[in-house]
Amino acid sequence: MVKIEVPHNHPRKVSLDIRERIIEGHSRHEVATAGLLAHGRGEAFDYLLGETTNESAKHAIQVAVAALLTAKHPVISVNGNVCSLVPREIVELSDITGAALEINLFYYRKEREDAIFRALKSAGANSVLGTQDRPSETIPELSSNRRKVDSEGIGLADVVLVPLEDGDRTEALKAMKKYVITIDLNPMSRTSVYADVTIVDNIVRAIPLMIAAAKELRTKSEEHLQKMISDFDNDKNLAESIRFIISRLEQLSTNIGLLREKNDTGVRAS
Ligand code: ATP
Ligand code: MG
Repeated sequence: MVKIEVPHNHPRKVSLDIRERIIEGHSRHEVATAGLLAHGRGEAFDYLLGETTNESAKHAIQVAVAALLTAKHPVISVNGNVCSLVPREIVELSDITGAALEINLFYYRKEREDAIFRALKSAGANSVLGTQDRPSETIPELSSNRRKVDSEGIGLADVVLVPLEDGDRTEALKAMKKYVITIDLNPMSRTSVYADVTIVDNIVRAIPLMIAAAKELRTKSEEHLQKMISDFDNDKNLAESIRFIISRLEQLSTNIGLLREKNDTGVRAS
């Protein structure tokens, strides 16, 4: 496959480079075709957010990391998009928080499981849960392969990080009384509104910030971390994210020239 080189001063360079990673992940069979569409939905919300990490997301990141650090059995769920976008970073977050990595696929294919397993291993993962050869159990209320979770992973977990997750599965995890953390660019998705902590940000920006937060928070007392968690109100945080988008759009609607300034690098999109 020919890799598209995006000129360094292209106004959409960062976004196009991220898109390229997803396309490469698709050709390595990590990403499902539907995963490309899910990525496009995320991109649209990132455009609305101005492609930066806002204060509400930074707050949610702190609380999410506190929950992972204080959990008895934290698990990070990995799908094809997550694996293609942040393979090394997700392994580092797993190492630093002690959370197990579990492969979790919406569209199961052995080929996809193998591709993700290989990618995580070459990114430095010691152990990867959720593969077909592992003990599994089923989540009530969900059909087909999506019901399966690893008995020593999500099955046992008290806290699960499920980035870029589907709403049905998030709702089922909540019904199993898991404390659910997600990363989702759409503050209105079902996953966003069912989760206990929603980080409304691009996973590419959020995971490195979570790693930095873990390095800082692991030195704090259990009591301090528990207070951060109990003080957090996810509905309030989501409302702030929505208001952030509204006020950004209000500002742009009064001055479209701001959009030209932002994009004016002298290079035109082809
Ligand atoms: P839901 O099922 O929760 O109602 P949905 O059906 O709209 O959501 P899904 O495809 O099930 O969407 O879930 C994928 C979610 O991941 C979407 O909300 C999408 O905005 C989000 N997403 C896609 N790419 C990224 C990314 N790079 N970073 C963060 N979120 C992303
Ligand atoms: Mg969905």
